[in-house]
Amino acid sequence: MNLVLLGPPGAGKGTLAARLVEAFGFVHLSTGDILREEVKKGSELGKLAKGYMERGELVPDEVILGMVRERVDGETDGFLFDGFPRTIAQAEGLEEILPVHLVIYLELPEEEVVRRLSARRVCKNCGANYNLITQPPKAPGVCDRCGGELYQRPDDREDVIRNRFRVYLEQSAPLIDYYEGKGILRRVDASLSPDEVFHRVAEVLRG
Ligand code: AMP
Repeated sequence: MNLVLLGPPGAGKGTLAARLVEAFGFVHLSTGDILREEVKKGSELGKLAKGYMERGELVPDEVILGMVRERVDGETDGFLFDGFPRTIAQAEGLEEILPVHLVIYLELPEEEVVRRLSARRVCKNCGANYNLITQPPKAPGVCDRCGGELYQRPDDREDVIRNRFRVYLEQSAPLIDYYEGKGILRRVDASLSPDEVFHRVAEVLRG
């Protein structure tokens, strides 16, 4: 089965994806994580993507589809897409690569998105995510897992968060109707605890 996680930034797609990978063995494909790696490496793709990401805008569809095609590499089953597709054009492009069987839509209102993302901190070393309100590290600024330094993503500043939410409403929210029309969308309330969200999604997956 191939699964798509849809929802605004900050809805908890990454956290949920990690748990689903552990429980169900999906291959996790997060276009945001891939792009951040490329920016870190300073590759051509990273240089191209950096400006879009810092402004909270979308990287062009063809670039994203090329990246996904390369990673899927002819396999057709077992993928969990996180943060992709983000436009109707990407969804149509994905259909030419492989079939999507289920879309989990994590619903979260704008004020909660801003509250969560402005409190998010990420480990520079291992990428672990923390939230100063709901999931703080044991020692301030230090990763519990590896001792790495925690930082705030440049796109997690309030002005950029609001722009990302606007971009989400304009370009990604149409995917809700798109997948609902195909009868494969399931809605989950993302304001619940990470455990509860995971259990609800696991129930859907177990059918
Ligand atoms: P994320 O970690 O999913 O919030 O992604 C961070 C940033 O990477 C986004 O704000 C976009 O600039 C870019 N990005 C990630 N995934 C996509 C995508 N599927 N299409 C276009 N841009 C993307």
